[in-house]
Amino acid sequence: AAKQAGRGNVREYDSSFDSSIKHRIRMEREMQLALERNEFFLEYQPIMCTRDRKLTGYEALVRWQHPELGRVPPDQFIGIAEECGLITQLGEWVARRACLDAMEWGNALSVSVNVSPIQFATSDLPEIMSRILYETGLEAKRLSIEITENIFLQGSQNIEILRKLRALGIGIVMDDFGTGYSSLSYLQDFQFDKVKIDRSFIWGMLEKTHSAAIVNAILSLGHDLGIDIVAEGIETAEQLAYLEKRSCSLVQGYFIGRPCKTIAEAPRTEAMQVA
Ligand code: C2E
Ligand code: CA
Ligand code: CA
Ligand code: CA
Repeated sequence: AAKQAGRGNVREYDSSFDSSIKHRIRMEREMQLALERNEFFLEYQPIMCTRDRKLTGYEALVRWQHPELGRVPPDQFIGIAEECGLITQLGEWVARRACLDAMEWGNALSVSVNVSPIQFATSDLPEIMSRILYETGLEAKRLSIEITENIFLQGSQNIEILRKLRALGIGIVMDDFGTGYSSLSYLQDFQFDKVKIDRSFIWGMLEKTHSAAIVNAILSLGHDLGIDIVAEGIETAEQLAYLEKRSCSLVQGYFIGRPCKTIAEAPRTEAMQVA
């Protein structure tokens, strides 16, 4: 179709294609180097329990500080890392670093790490996770993994892997809940420890009656199924108040605390000071 549209279009099509391929190849190479040069690091975002307004744990979020490109946001490199397979190595690094850091905190807080569906397909996750726990000495109950609904698209072998991870004592959290095609059916297939309501619903909750209805439905579902619901992306006191009134047990977002390099650095936000 591009060829029939004339020369100008062909050139335009080719150049954008070319530059995106070049971009990917460069990013792949840069990520490989970044792993060797230790350019990746983690930031931790607090998760607060609404009952006592105390911290229960942190989510580890990967960061990349490139010497020339500067800070590359995860949304710009996780996808490429997944396509070229580097996510397997990166994901293992994230889990090990997070467990080492949690051991150093000197408290009983939990840490959750994001795990890509690609890691389920390309590595023996139960074996890797149990080795990391053994090597770092972290108690399994302090570690959770956050997965998205698309791991269920790869068939039932991933449910088996989840069961093995759970048997190790690792918590399993469904992330971005409500954004997939059949979120509800996955709750039937696997007993999650926690479910995170996607932040798009939280952002719409106070303006759109539809978003509010979805949030309310997920909260009552969690209540009936005995699953803790985490609301993420909370940016205002009003959003927090709304969720507290509806007994949402766990909350996360800039209003609670921004991602920080160390947990000692984590600010005592307005939300927590009220305690
Ligand atoms: P996610 O797992 O849904 O993580 C939450 C994202 O929302 C983070 O973005 C966090 O910084 C941001 N966030 C938290 N609270 C607020 C808020 O109140 N307002 C706003 N505007 N944003 C908030 P981040 O760190 O840029 O990460 C983006 C995505 O990249 C993550 O989404 C996750 O899917 C992926 N990611 C991050 N770290 C890892 C990792 O180690 N492994 C894998 N596989 N994916 C990761
Ligand atoms: Ca997450
Ligand atoms: Ca999320
Ligand atoms: Ca996400």
